[in-house]
Amino acid sequence: MVLSDLGRKLNAALSSLNRVSIVDEKVLDTLLKEVCAALLESDVNVKLVSQLRQKVRIKVKAVFESGGEKAKEANKKNLIQKAVFDELVSLVDPGVEPYKPKKGYPNVIMAVGLQACGTLLPGNGKTTTCTKLAVHYQKRGYKASIVCADTFRAGAFDQTRQSATKAKVAYFGSYTETDPVAIAAQGVAKFKKEKFEVIIVDTSGRHKQESELFEEMIQIGHAVKPDMTVLILDASIGQSAEAQSRAFKESADFGAIIVTKMDGHAKGGGAISAVAATKTPIIFLGTGEHLTDLDRFSPQPFISKLLG
Ligand code: GDP
Repeated sequence: MVLSDLGRKLNAALSSLNRVSIVDEKVLDTLLKEVCAALLESDVNVKLVSQLRQKVRIKVKAVFESGGEKAKEANKKNLIQKAVFDELVSLVDPGVEPYKPKKGYPNVIMAVGLQACGTLLPGNGKTTTCTKLAVHYQKRGYKASIVCADTFRAGAFDQTRQSATKAKVAYFGSYTETDPVAIAAQGVAKFKKEKFEVIIVDTSGRHKQESELFEEMIQIGHAVKPDMTVLILDASIGQSAEAQSRAFKESADFGAIIVTKMDGHAKGGGAISAVAATKTPIIFLGTGEHLTDLDRFSPQPFISKLLG
């Protein structure tokens, strides 16, 4: 079920309230069942869905029982709709402010991610997203650059070179150096010296073993000391998002998430659940293959738009 279907189903559940004359606990339970089924179908984590149901029930029941103004029949629908809306927002809002690059300072942003589905399938969009990010900051007046420290995937540097050239963004990489830590350190040092304000370090997304990938990321992190590490997650990752993001959090300790391919047929709910699993904010959504297909993410507008 794609995200727009989720929005439609949530909307249908919420507007079903308008068809009943008396809103009681049974009506609330039926509505919550529909809301939860839609979220589960979208791959939102089971535990989160059940927490959402609990929280809405407790909140609404407390008001029902209070007998106050809000418990009046005319206000019950609004009360329930708002409670569901607020819980959906908190699902994607960890309450943590992401790092904001400062002007006149060499902000180092390290991009990490794992191609979970095997090396033959297309990547999760990390390299593309690095260029999109550079374009985003460049448009806002930052002097931006990209360092390609992915020496594992053949062609990664060529891809960076091509997309960075197209976007008129400075880039650094090597066809001969095989040590990703050395490339990352050299690239960041060079761009710092040249007074770049955003230096994006693209790391490897695949390895012989997952543990080696994590070890490499830790070493690159030590070498370049990122101001912000961003986890790039493919919207189609599904339920494994929680385990994957937790594993990354333990080793790379990322401070922001970008979910890619939100324009496709992916359900998206799994990647969104990574926010709650790691208490880390989503900062952008990738919405296409073009370099400008990067949308800023904010919890409340996202849920409002989802519900249409
Ligand atoms: P990497 O291996 O993780 O670096 O992934 P790439 O950046 O090479 O991207 C893999 C494929 O996904 C490429 O064909 C990209 O054009 C495509 N891609 C990346 N981001 C998006 C996105 O937000 N939407 C869509 N539809 N495709 C994307």
